[in-house]
Amino acid sequence: MTRDPRYDVLFEPVQIGPKVARNRFYQPGHCNGMGRLRPRGHARMRGVKAEGGWAVINSEHCGIHPNAEMFPEVVLTLWDDRDIPILARACDEVHAHGALFGVQLAYSGGFLANRLSREVPVGPLARPVSEYDPVQARAMEKDDIRDLHRWWRAGVQRAMQAGVDIVNVSGQFTVAAFHFLSPRNRRTDEYGGSLENRARLLRELIEITREAAKGECAVTVRVIIDELIGPKGLQAHEDGKAMIEHLAELPDLWDVVVGTWEGDSATSRFAPENVHEPYFAFVKSVTTKPVVGVGRFTSPDTMASLIERGVLDMIGAVRPSIADPFLPKKIEAGRSDDIRECIGCNICVASHFHAVNLRCTQNPSAGEEWRRGWHPESIAAKGSGDAVLVVGAGPAGLEAARALGQRGYAVTLAEATQELGGRVSRESRLPGLAAWARVRDWRTSQLDKMPNVAVYRDSALDAADVRGFGARHVVLATGARWRGDGVGRAHNDPVPGSEAAEVYTPDDIMAGNLPDGPVVVFDDDHYYMANVLAELLRQAGREVTLVTPAAEIAAYTVNTLELERIARHLDELGVATITHHNLLAIAADHVLLGHVYTERERTIPAAAVVMVTARLPHDALYHDLKAEPAATERAGIASLTRIGDCLAPAAIVHATYAGHRYAQELDTEPSKRLFRHELPQLHPKRAEGSGHEV
Ligand code: ADP
Ligand code: SF4
Repeated sequence: MTRDPRYDVLFEPVQIGPKVARNRFYQPGHCNGMGRLRPRGHARMRGVKAEGGWAVINSEHCGIHPNAEMFPEVVLTLWDDRDIPILARACDEVHAHGALFGVQLAYSGGFLANRLSREVPVGPLARPVSEYDPVQARAMEKDDIRDLHRWWRAGVQRAMQAGVDIVNVSGQFTVAAFHFLSPRNRRTDEYGGSLENRARLLRELIEITREAAKGECAVTVRVIIDELIGPKGLQAHEDGKAMIEHLAELPDLWDVVVGTWEGDSATSRFAPENVHEPYFAFVKSVTTKPVVGVGRFTSPDTMASLIERGVLDMIGAVRPSIADPFLPKKIEAGRSDDIRECIGCNICVASHFHAVNLRCTQNPSAGEEWRRGWHPESIAAKGSGDAVLVVGAGPAGLEAARALGQRGYAVTLAEATQELGGRVSRESRLPGLAAWARVRDWRTSQLDKMPNVAVYRDSALDAADVRGFGARHVVLATGARWRGDGVGRAHNDPVPGSEAAEVYTPDDIMAGNLPDGPVVVFDDDHYYMANVLAELLRQAGREVTLVTPAAEIAAYTVNTLELERIARHLDELGVATITHHNLLAIAADHVLLGHVYTERERTIPAAAVVMVTARLPHDALYHDLKAEPAATERAGIASLTRIGDCLAPAAIVHATYAGHRYAQELDTEPSKRLFRHELPQLHPKRAEGSGHEV
């Protein structure tokens, strides 16, 4: 296939200071839970993106000194020369595939509590640190700023020793340069007050970087231009613009950000592709340097239009590059239809907060490139000529069938209903979740191209069907259903009254069976389902109260950057919320609630209850097949495996991973199924006489 000429513009080279980017695809820095802790994993993940055609790959936040550190968040450091090989490894993997590697140099002074180093934080202002540690930062004095200049210069020099092509000066929400820049800066010296003063530190860091780089590295800036908090913060068309005008020609490239991480990386539930264009559209009018912006871009048409309309010079993409590291190569090869589009769920962000390897709902190989040797595009050929039967076409079954088909197995995928996609199809019809259907659509489009995979709809299989099928391997991906009795984290036993007809499950609501109000939605699940259903019921005109034992509505969504938005959204919709309360009993016209920490009880009116607490696997077929092992063996079935929700209900990311893992591991030795665990290396030399490692 050949490239669509409409996208030629995306493959033009871009000059960035002394370096040339081979095309316009730019991956800004992003956290990945590997960084300094798992450097081999980090380096391979970056290298795979370079292989996939990205022209510029940036590291995540790379701290320069222990008096501004972010532990336990997993980021990079260049505190001393021993850090250099970690960065060098990523450089090498990226260079091996012809891309430029940038380090995102950052000084997060005063933002966090220095939990590891125990240094007193210093930042723009004497204020508590941003998280709730009982710690205040000291305001930077001139000596501190001079120290920062020195550390910064050393950081740049170390980055250059590591072999970076680009030093990216970070002005993001965690770093001091941005907090100086913000109108929230209340300093009264030459680093506060006027825009020129507030931008002084950023200017100094850019200038020091330029001096230290000596024209050998490009110097770029990634900075927030609008804080999305109105006049209290930077505003794109006010001081955000004035700031870029003020520093316009100083860096070799501007990478502009809108909002903090929550604002910049909104989920698809709350923001469409390219939502920030109105904020960054002005930037090219005030600088001649290349401009990068992000917007969860997955459509080549949108990308080409942004370049042709003169809005951006390079297409910034983090999440789309995680979901499909080969996005540029696919567009280049005229295979845009094969792009595995990001669904905007922010599970990748959650892996950062959990300090574990990057993971992605759409791309099961994310974070597994080094430790499991998985690749987003290629997979080992089949290990035998055996046929495989996959039962159930939800995300787990679809991914298993797709990856098995890619390996070359003869695969049959049987689905009970007319529609493929399982929960993804059902959930993508809920308010705000339409983009989740991409999990199904990418997989079905790939399956359509595989002559060795047969897909049967309307095929609910029982044990006799499975035995009669004649497949050597059977994988059950039959999913799960929501339970209605309230059992979950808070309840070991059914809630009294839960057997009543006016108790609904999410499956009932998704099937279009809506209760009359007032409705209580009991959320002991803590992710999206309860609040999305509350939204749906509210939109259908019901009075809705969401009750949860947790301290926050949708507590898990702090990890997907959605918590505040969900709370705001429910409030705007008029959904009442009650936290810290358990559902104790259900009566005909009310429910009894109990405070989770006290004996205090209260009743609220309710004509119906929606239980969002836990799910039960659809595993009857598995147990039927297991119940008669001799019959199963006679049928020639060598392995019977449950995956996804049928084994243990979890999020969609777990289902695609389970399906992929099954396919990767079929016909492999058990010893090959362990991931390679990265251990800290201890230097073999011992300090003379001390007996301690040095
Ligand atoms: P997962 O998230 O684990 O992929 P889902 O619930 O999304 O699970 O999908 C399970 C799919 O399996 C559903 O589409 C369901 O219709 C299908 N299914 C369940 N039982 C059978 C069966 N006995 N035969 C064929 N398909 C089944
Ligand atoms: Fe996109 Fe979700 Fe993957 Fe993140 S985890 S890259 S948001 S699909």
